[in-house]
Parts: sequence; C-alpha cells; structure tokens
Amino acid sequence: MKSRSLALVTLFFALFLFVLVKPAKADHGSSLIFAAHNDKILFDLSPAPRAVNGVSYVPVRSFSKHFGFQVDWIAATGEIRLTKGAQVITLNTKTKQFIQGNSSVPFSYININNSLLVPYRQISEAFGYNVSFSYKGPIARVSDANAKLTLDQLYETNKTQIEAYRKAHTPPPPKPPAPSPARRAFLTFDDGPNKHTAGILDYLKANNLKATFFVLKPNADNNPVLIKRMFNDGHTIACHGVTHDKSKFYSSPSAAVGEMKSCFDSVKKITGGAASNVIRTPYGSKPYMTDSYRTAMNQAGYKMWDWNVDSLDWSYNSATKTSAYTNEQINAVIKSGAAPLVLLHDRIDTVAILKSIVPNLKSKGYTSLPITSSIQPYNFWNKYVLK
Ligand SMILES: [Zn+2]
Repeated sequence: MKSRSLALVTLFFALFLFVLVKPAKADHGSSLIFAAHNDKILFDLSPAPRAVNGVSYVPVRSFSKHFGFQVDWIAATGEIRLTKGAQVITLNTKTKQFIQGNSSVPFSYININNSLLVPYRQISEAFGYNVSFSYKGPIARVSDANAKLTLDQLYETNKTQIEAYRKAHTPPPPKPPAPSPARRAFLTFDDGPNKHTAGILDYLKANNLKATFFVLKPNADNNPVLIKRMFNDGHTIACHGVTHDKSKFYSSPSAAVGEMKSCFDSVKKITGGAASNVIRTPYGSKPYMTDSYRTAMNQAGYKMWDWNVDSLDWSYNSATKTSAYTNEQINAVIKSGAAPLVLLHDRIDTVAILKSIVPNLKSKGYTSLPITSSIQPYNFWNKYVLK
C-alpha cells in the first residue's frame, strides 16, 4: 500500500512538473517555485527554489537550516551529508549519487553562484515528509501531521506575497537589440512649391520622413500655406532663386546672390523669420558657379548643395521609368558607401516615384533627413563621401 501510494505521488509529481516546466523551458529554462513547509511558505530560501527539466530544486544550505538538518561538506569525496537525528543521507556531487543506507540512486543538482540546489522531493521524502504540489503559486510543499491549511488555503493566504516575490525574482525580459540607427538619405525637391507639393508633404508625413525643398521665390509667394506647412512639418526650406533663368541668375555673382537673398526674404516673411541658409543653384552648380560666384555665395553665408542621384524626373515623365532609374542610382551610391542625395521636383508623378524609392531606401536601412547648415555642403565643386 505504501509503495503504491508513493508510486502515485511520484507519477502525479512527474506529470505535474512536466506540465509546469515545459512552457518555462522555452524562455528561461527554469521557473520559480515556492517551497512550503506545512503552513509556511519559505520565502527566505536563497537562492530562490526553482524547477528545471522536471525537477524542483531547493538550496541545500538554507533549506536544511529551516528543517533542522545538519549539513556537512566533505571536500575530499565531494559529498554533502545531511543528518537529522538518526537519519543520514549523502549526496555525492562527483558520482551524482543519492545515498541513503544501503540504497544509492542517481541525483542531479544545480549550482547557482556557488550555491548548491538539490532535488526537493528526493530529500524531503528521504526524511519522511509528504510532498504535494499546487498549480497555484506553484507551491511545492512538504508536510507532516502538523499541516492545517489546504494547499489552496496556503496559496490564498500568501497570494500577495507570492506575487510580490515572483516580481522581485523575475529577471527583466532581455532588451531587444537596439535597432541599428537608420543611415541618412536626403530627398530634395526643386522648383516648388506648387499644386503637387501638398501630396508630397502628405506622403513624407505619413512615412515620417524629412526632406529639403529648394523653392523658387515666386512659387513661395504664391503658396505661403505650403511654405508654412513645410516649416511646421520640420522640413528644410532652402532656396533655388527667383528667375530659374540661366542668363539672369548667372549674369553676375551679385545677381546670383541677390536672387537667393530675395528668395530667403520671401520665405522669412511667410515663416515669421525662420529660414535656412541652404541653397541649390538652377541647373546645378557646374559649370556656372565658377570661383567668383562661389566666393560671393560663401561670403553671403549660403551653403551650396547639388546631388549625387539625379532622378531625371522631368525628362522621363514616367513614374515607372524615373523610379527604376533613380533606384538604380540610389543602389550604386549606397554601394559606394555614401548617403543618397536625391534630386526630385514637385511634379504630378512625384508621390508615385516616392512610393517606389522610399521603400527601397527603407529596405537598405536609410531614412530621409533634412539638409541642415551643420552638414558639410555636398556639391559638384566639393565632392566627398557624403554620409
Ligand atoms: Zn530647378
């Protein structure tokens, strides 16, 4: 009868721990259990008891202290001897044998920061205790005739403390690896703003992208709402001049500077004083922006930018063709180790082009940021590996 009930307890125990430990194994490999002695949960055991691979373990020293077992460590043989009255059990950590009288069975232990945790059931049963378990907690309890509470009552009585203990002994979930910071690309839009600009702004906002708009003074004057929106959305409002006419803009250094100044004056008037000092000259800075022009621009405090990816959107007049061509160049620039600096215009097909090139940039870890005056200007006279 006795051996049958022991067998049943063992079977129950094995099934229980299988259920208990299986899910925990997936994340931590061990799970917290609460060891109880009669009507008391042993919160002071250290390290905390835990279940690993279907076996629940308790720290041999603090557990033995609680139960009044004498613990002797025999270094020569690697044995731990637990004694209580006439009862002696020996745990051999070298041969991994659990020895009681003439019987010797395998046992396993775990070592946490030089504290030995030993199988709870084996030890308790060896000293004649009953072992029972509750899913609630979970609680592993050794008991004798002095136990008054049911397992449920034991749990309910200690519920708050159990949950507080679990919280205190649960390591914080591992932090997900920090995403590598997005590398920057620069989307730039020339010649606006115009009736196509709002759609571009919508797209940029929806995709959390910042860009640079190289605006023309007359278009800014005609579209103050769009200029304000660019400003409020955090884009850089840069200037592209007034006339967009080679013969006028490049007629003299002072004419070129004057157009930029006039453009920025308009922008400032609309934004209430805010403007960048970033410029792009019509048709790009080569060959027109010769030494004397560049000197004049520098002296006026302007930072001149060209591009390293020309979409040729005005020439293709087809979103599909422009997108394919632009992505090809973007890929080449990225391959060379530089940040794509993309020239686009505020056109009817611009959003369609963005819908192709932005996912391409994103897939390679790039996001569009605005050009600011703190970035070294990249232009055809000052080519470097823009990062
Ligand atoms: Zn232009």
